[in-house]
Amino acid sequence: MISIKNLNKSYKMGKNTLHVLKGIDLEIAEGEFVAIMGSSGSGKSTLLNIIGMLDEHDSGIYDLDGFRIEKLNETKAANYRNKFLGFIFQSYNLINFKNVVENVALPLYYQKVKRSERHKFAMGYLQRVGLEPWANHMPNELSGGQKQRVAIARALAARPKLLLADEPTGALDTKTSQEVMHLIQEINDEGKTILMVTHEDDIAQMCKRIVRLKDGVIISDEKVNQVRV
Ligand code: ATP
Ligand code: MG
Repeated sequence: MISIKNLNKSYKMGKNTLHVLKGIDLEIAEGEFVAIMGSSGSGKSTLLNIIGMLDEHDSGIYDLDGFRIEKLNETKAANYRNKFLGFIFQSYNLINFKNVVENVALPLYYQKVKRSERHKFAMGYLQRVGLEPWANHMPNELSGGQKQRVAIARALAARPKLLLADEPTGALDTKTSQEVMHLIQEINDEGKTILMVTHEDDIAQMCKRIVRLKDGVIISDEKVNQVRV
């Protein structure tokens, strides 16, 4: 699914260059559930954003589902993202002036699904995350955990091959984090490939593999015995 070889990324900061990813090699197969860990500034989000085609690498090879990802123009990148990827963020990134079901239906709009079908599919995904009764509420009426469930339903609605999550439990309390992780585990059990960034060890232990980054280098890559609380 993902094949990365000797990937490098730097940011120019005035006269200085910050070398953020230094020769990353990473292979992720279909169906895996991988956590990327590492301290603040180690390059986790940068790697996830490159994998998600929200940012570009400087050198090295990145293949996604057999496609070589190189310098993409924004239209092409957006097409790839719509076709392959679902995103979940720490801050949910829901659209506050649209109700819950409209938020979930959004990727279907970009995939040019007919309006009548969009609502039906979106309701199905809401049901999947247990929030069907909240369909007509606005995001600001929901708790953090519920917002993240809506965001997960929206990510699933894109029917992505790969789900990317940057600190999906970062804004949630421990109990709600566990609940959201259980949902993400179930989605992986159903076959979805998931790559998520977290700096919390107990969250990472709920994935199936942990890749640790330090100063832009992978320092360990291990399978874990998944914790089922
Ligand atoms: P955190 O746990 O705090 O989210 P992270 O591991 O996700 O950290 P990154 O966001 O990948 O870290 O950032 C890695 C380094 O690259 C940091 O030093 C950051 O300041 C820098 N950086 C990230 N994005 C940019 C950018 N767009 N321009 C310049 N520097 C950047
Ligand atoms: Mg980050």
